[in-house]
Amino acid sequence: MRDNVAAAKAALSHLDIEGNDAAIRAKSRDFFWYSPVLKDRLDHVVADFVASPKNEGEVIEILKTCYAHDVPVTTRGAGTGNYGQAMPLAGGCVMHLRHMAAVKEVHPGRVIVEPGCLLKDLDAACKEHSGQEIRMFSSTWATATIGGFIAGGSGGVGSCTWGSLRDLGNIIRLRVVTMEEEPRVLEFRGEELARVSHAYGTNGIITEIEMPLAPAYEWVEMFLDVGDFMDAARFAEELANEDGILIKLATVFEAPVAFDYFQRVKPYVSEGSHLIGLMVAPQSMDGFLTFLARRPGVKLIYRHDDHDWARSPGPVFEYSWNHTTLRALKVDPSITYLQVRYGFPKHLDLIEKMQAEFSPEVLQHLEVLKENGKVMFAGLSLVKFTTEERLDEIIRIHEEAGAMIFNPHRYTLEEGGRQSVDDRQLVFKREADPKGLLNPGKMIAWDDPDWSYDRMYAYPKMQAAE
Ligand code: FAD
Repeated sequence: MRDNVAAAKAALSHLDIEGNDAAIRAKSRDFFWYSPVLKDRLDHVVADFVASPKNEGEVIEILKTCYAHDVPVTTRGAGTGNYGQAMPLAGGCVMHLRHMAAVKEVHPGRVIVEPGCLLKDLDAACKEHSGQEIRMFSSTWATATIGGFIAGGSGGVGSCTWGSLRDLGNIIRLRVVTMEEEPRVLEFRGEELARVSHAYGTNGIITEIEMPLAPAYEWVEMFLDVGDFMDAARFAEELANEDGILIKLATVFEAPVAFDYFQRVKPYVSEGSHLIGLMVAPQSMDGFLTFLARRPGVKLIYRHDDHDWARSPGPVFEYSWNHTTLRALKVDPSITYLQVRYGFPKHLDLIEKMQAEFSPEVLQHLEVLKENGKVMFAGLSLVKFTTEERLDEIIRIHEEAGAMIFNPHRYTLEEGGRQSVDDRQLVFKREADPKGLLNPGKMIAWDDPDWSYDRMYAYPKMQAAE
């Protein structure tokens, strides 16, 4: 271990410090291996030690000590991110927020919570307190933290009604600690939220979160079988446009995704079944069943509260968002994925075009998404991976057609986003992390402002593979 790292670790030895090599390695990884490209680049990355603060005071102490010794700090919620967001490229300290998991206050329409709280625990607390729940959650609801969702995620189950995390009103307030000689504690609202939300912990550590809430329901979870793929996409869009029917999820899977990859669904579908997964509020079920009856080509094959399936398929949302990729990967390890924005108003045309161009090499998996009041789709397309060159070509063809790609095969904020720096994040990093020690290697603009994006960025200080 380098001297400065050993000195920082020693100075923090009165805190909860993990020294066991296997545990440190486990805490240095996330779900980066979904991408064969990232698997190739990041597999060897490991921290020097893991520190788990119990409160904001200990977060400040860790940041101050690591600052004094020039030790990088990469924050970890639960490590379910898909792009190596929580992986310490330059080693140093992984700060694991598992002890900071308290739900502090629940009020009508809002909750105040610590960042390490699991999404499922947050929902349980809000439901028990006053029949409320968070508006949207990552499909990793059972395992991911609210802090990791805000710093590393984008949206998910609920986004068909509420939009994405970045939309105004979907985060109320964030409390943030800086990494300076004397760390400061700042409170962000409104415009300031964009500095640190979805910034991968590169410019501040979130220690308290205030989120809006919605009424909690016993959502009715369903699967529907449709013979034609575009009919399935149109069904999902039209349902999301029914103003009187409240939904939390509308997902479309091109055939044969359900037949090939969803083991417990397989006995009830055919190879040609295009599947729709839904969550509908119980009071909307009459309206929904009327909507369904008007579309005789669409068959309800499962509802969780009334079915005769031999084995429950489990929560329908655990087939959605990036759980689809996980299920496909378990059956066929050569599968990877893309993140596509099929933007309004050309979304259906683009989907039809991409399906015609690439199926079955790329199978469509669509999530209904609301953006500025318009219903559109996020695509988490399943890709049969062959080479990096072919993957890049598939991406290029999508982009040329007008389907924006958020590349999940890159570990930097810019390459995974809109290929440009978010100035609000960069400017705040200059102020909050002057030594560039927070999650190094994830913000290209910090390391190399003139980067041209013509090839994959390679962080120059990345640990060498042994
Ligand atoms: P981590 O992976 O631990 O961290 C994510 C990022 O946030 C890292 O850069 C980390 O450094 C930073 N971070 C964590 N806590 C803090 C903090 N307190 N302050 C500052 N920075 C912090 N994502 C979605 O958006 N929607 C989905 O539906 C979705 N589905 C998924 C399904 C599967 C099967 C998998 C494997 C991933 C999925 N993801 C999804 C990605 C990921 O699960 C989510 O982003 C998740 O919410 C991350 O939470 P986490 O606690 O695991 O965060």
